[in-house]
Amino acid sequence: MERRTKTIAIANQKGGVGKTTTVVNLAAALSARKRTVLVVDLDPQAHATLGLGLEKQPGVSLYPVLLGEKDVADVIQPTKWSNLNVIPSEVDLAGAELEFGTREDRLQMIGAALEPVKKSGAFDYILLDCPPSLGIVMTSSLVASDGVLIPIQAEFLAMDGLALITNSIARIQQSVNPRLELNGIVFTMVNAVARLTQDVMHEVRGHFGEKVYETTIPRNVRVSEAPSMGVPVVFLDPRSKGAESY
Ligand code: ADP
Ligand code: MG
Repeated sequence: MERRTKTIAIANQKGGVGKTTTVVNLAAALSARKRTVLVVDLDPQAHATLGLGLEKQPGVSLYPVLLGEKDVADVIQPTKWSNLNVIPSEVDLAGAELEFGTREDRLQMIGAALEPVKKSGAFDYILLDCPPSLGIVMTSSLVASDGVLIPIQAEFLAMDGLALITNSIARIQQSVNPRLELNGIVFTMVNAVARLTQDVMHEVRGHFGEKVYETTIPRNVRVSEAPSMGVPVVFLDPRSKGAESY
């Protein structure tokens, strides 16, 4: 029987807010619950690739698929863990913004590249790790997705950043992808005792209501150590506060 694949973009135009950490650990947690997962690393920095224990390899990414030079099936890599697969990233993806910026099908390009994977029904979830910009790769990712998950830090100006991305989401919903849903906003690297944290969380919850997940991810040293070992913290130290939250 064909499975219905759910595609979720993890996006925020700001860097260092916990996108990649969220992708890697949600993917790990889902795979441990017997869901088949494909992580697509769309950031040329390839932190999701490395965080899942793989190395960058020239030609193994979505880039040659976007160019029509490779089949998507040829760039899907298994990880050490069952049910958990990844399309790695490589530096060539850095050129995608400029190179594909004038392509007529640029908004549809990531969805089209992933279409055979969705059709195959091989995965329950496809998680897209977006680069930190509102550019064409992120926009095209949102066009390809059923849902979007926004990790944010409870910092000064958090609301301004949220306004930018939620406006982009609304524009995409209205123009090319009406099925795109804001799944939710998740606070990452939370220092619960800080006054500013409390104020920002209160403000964001006041504005976005139930779209803000009750679960927050605490700042946790095990979470920051895990990437250098190429193991999601959910597997490395499942009892740590960070892992439990994910
Ligand atoms: P982004 O993908 O948005 O740029 P990352 O997921 O790479 O953000 O996170 C940025 C940095 O913060 C990384 O070094 C990561 O290990 C660290 N980090 C992320 N979440 C946590 C956390 N809950 N506790 C401690 N460090 C974290
Ligand atoms: Mg990242």
